Amino acid sequence: MTFDALIIGGGASGLSCALVLGSAKDKAFAKEKSIGIIVHQKTSHLQNALFNNVLGLQSGTLGADILKTGKQQLIDLYPHISQIDEEKVTHLEKNSKGFIITTNKNIYKSKVVVVAIGYTSLMTIKGLENYIEPHPRTVVEKDRIWLKNTDHLIEENLYVAGTLAGWRSQFAMACGSGSHVATDILTLWNGGKHTKIHDKIITA
Ligand SMILES: Cc1cc2nc3c(=O)[nH]c(=O)nc-3n(C[C@H](O)[C@H](O)[C@H](O)COP(=O)(O)OP(=O)(O)OC[C@H]3O[C@@H](n4cnc5c(N)ncnc54)[C@H](O)[C@@H]3O)c2cc1C
Repeated sequence: MTFDALIIGGGASGLSCALVLGSAKDKAFAKEKSIGIIVHQKTSHLQNALFNNVLGLQSGTLGADILKTGKQQLIDLYPHISQIDEEKVTHLEKNSKGFIITTNKNIYKSKVVVVAIGYTSLMTIKGLENYIEPHPRTVVEKDRIWLKNTDHLIEENLYVAGTLAGWRSQFAMACGSGSHVATDILTLWNGGKHTKIHDKIITA
């Protein structure tokens, strides 16, 4: 399967990135783009999280529920985004046409890749070793990592989002990071013209 953009990781930043990319579906520059997300959620930090301090989320919201409803929101609103379930990425390789993404079950190709798999040092995608450094904004004892990047860009067409991009671990920051990357990709597809996607109330 070949994509224009493939997101790796179905946690806070990955799902947010997918939602914003999906919301551009009616724009001429995004209409024909094929977008996928490897929506692995088993090791998301949302699995055990309880939210009282996030604007717009009712206090007591469970991260585990956000994982479920986030996936469903993507299916309901933006079904053109391929959700790849029950697969874990093991390798990422670059060639002249883009990236080859290998999972435990399949091989995919994509022009643009977003790595949104969290900042744990247990992260084991071969091909990313050269970018791994100690996380710049956590305590040393936690042994967290980031993928060295400038404004989320690791190298041409390869982005990182969420805690792995170097942000501290707060839900809103991870979502913001994923959304930011999505608007960078939309801007790229829009020939460099700065792009955002807003829905509006239609008044009579
Ligand atoms: C116990 C706990 C409580 C928290 N409470 C709060 C709080 O009260 N307020 C707040 O703001 N924040 C809180 N957080 C922080 C918040 O949950 C994180 O900041 C946020 O989940 C980080 O998002 P992320 O996308 O970077 O990583 P994650 O949400 O962890 O997502 C990473 C995703 O990548 C997937 N993945 C990993 N490896 C691979 C692979 N090889 N291939 C494919 N997919 C892969 C994982 O399964 C996961 O779904 C809490 C976190 C924890 C752990």
